[in-house]
Amino acid sequence: MLVIVVDQFRADYLERFGDLFAANGGLRRLMQGGAQWTNANFDHMPTYTAPGHATIMTGAWPSETGIIANDWYERETGRLVSNASDPEDKPDKARWQLFGGGERERASSPRRLIASTLGDEIRLVTNGRSKVIGISSKDRGAILPAGRHANAAYWFSPFTGNMVSSSYYFNEPPAWVARYNAARPADKYFGMEWTRLLKDTGEYERRAGADAPPWENIGTVPDTNTFPHKVTGGAAAPGREFYSVLDYSPFSNDLLVGFAQAAIENENLGTDADTDVLSVSFSANDYIGHRFGPYSQEVMDITLRTDGQIGTLLDFINAKIGLQNTLVVFTADHGVAPIPEHAAAMNLTGGRIGNTDIMNAARNAVRARFGRTKGEEKDSTADYISEPLYNANIFFNTVALKRDGINREDLERVVAEAVLTVPGINRAFTRTQLETGAITAGDVIGRRVLHGFHPRRNGDVILVQEPFKYFSEGASPIPATHGSPYTYDTHVPLIIMGQGLAAGRYAQPASPADIAPTLATLLRIQAPSNSVGRVLAEGLTLK
Ligand SMILES: [Zn+2]
Repeated sequence: MLVIVVDQFRADYLERFGDLFAANGGLRRLMQGGAQWTNANFDHMPTYTAPGHATIMTGAWPSETGIIANDWYERETGRLVSNASDPEDKPDKARWQLFGGGERERASSPRRLIASTLGDEIRLVTNGRSKVIGISSKDRGAILPAGRHANAAYWFSPFTGNMVSSSYYFNEPPAWVARYNAARPADKYFGMEWTRLLKDTGEYERRAGADAPPWENIGTVPDTNTFPHKVTGGAAAPGREFYSVLDYSPFSNDLLVGFAQAAIENENLGTDADTDVLSVSFSANDYIGHRFGPYSQEVMDITLRTDGQIGTLLDFINAKIGLQNTLVVFTADHGVAPIPEHAAAMNLTGGRIGNTDIMNAARNAVRARFGRTKGEEKDSTADYISEPLYNANIFFNTVALKRDGINREDLERVVAEAVLTVPGINRAFTRTQLETGAITAGDVIGRRVLHGFHPRRNGDVILVQEPFKYFSEGASPIPATHGSPYTYDTHVPLIIMGQGLAAGRYAQPASPADIAPTLATLLRIQAPSNSVGRVLAEGLTLK
């Protein structure tokens, strides 16, 4: 089984660029030979990389996987933690060893993932004979689809240029990984130019507009706004600067295809009766989408190149294993919104909301309502809200509330009302609403917030912005991003190709959470522990 995830890929890219895909391209073959659900949406918020990758192979929402964001504020420790950090990491000492990484890098693990994945279930059924391997440029993209009982996850180190892994999986990585890294495969892309794939630059103008519109000039990001993009990181030789910009080019995906081929070959994937799982998550599409936005020539170009890269991987699998013996899944972890300044130029509600404005509105209202020393200099409510705003969650300091005898529900209401006065804020949900069933299924935004809410890991008031608006973190904003409950972020491709699938387009509502239970039905195994997705029965040819 091959699970392909493209980090940041909107469903509409298949329609906007599909006619330009190559005859032997991977996306073209998947669209023609697979069962394609055209209305697949994530039903959770925030639509970020880690929650999306966790959902795909667990069939569960962040409320069940526990992966509520990429990074979140951990109330118990008062620290920001990463989804793939280990819960037993200490500030001065990581729990696991990182193989092949830089000195200041830490080894990741899947131990914050609560639910089992399809790969975990396959390994239970086959008594561990099946192999499950995850590959990506990002640690989370490799680790989360594979699961807790995976044989290995490998990701790219921007410090060393190696494909690295963690002692969570083994005492030592297999010898083939060391051989692969010793050949320095990333270095061959140093100084290479990323040019447009198609000769006809007019085709790019027609579909994606000018190469360097003004909204590409936002923030401080590597590289220029225009083709050709030369990939050096400003350095004279391969090293840290170069490795950290490689993901802003399609060469990063080529590197992953090469590593996936090495894994298939050296691990003998798909060569015996027990189903193996290889998940490959392409990260460069996300870096490039953030940098240039979904309507850019760069995103158009990497989409066309991704078609070719997936084609190369499918050809390799066909030669080694046979595609007729393989289930191929294609999906994404989230979409992306247009750059707000671009949206605003098109008369949409594009804009950026300052996090400081939100926190000031909340604090002022809390002081006015609960301050004991009104008008005086000392603010007795100053520590009621923990800084800063993470993932649009406001956290209360429960110790301070207990100390002053403040009722949490009262505070929630005051804060929710206050933040709704900030221009650009659309909705505010309180912990009490989310925990007491006050959200109805017909309220789609509310339902997506609820599906992204884990009582122990989330905050006390959760905000949702108006469409096309971004929460802004500081002076150097990211040009484009995702995370909202709106269609541009939730609508992603969902294609499954292989035995048991009836090729064709299906318009029924679907979601990436349906992938794991559908595959479990095809394989006749138990669905993952917290799976809530639907079996996509209309696309199956069960006998
Ligand atoms: Zn992203």
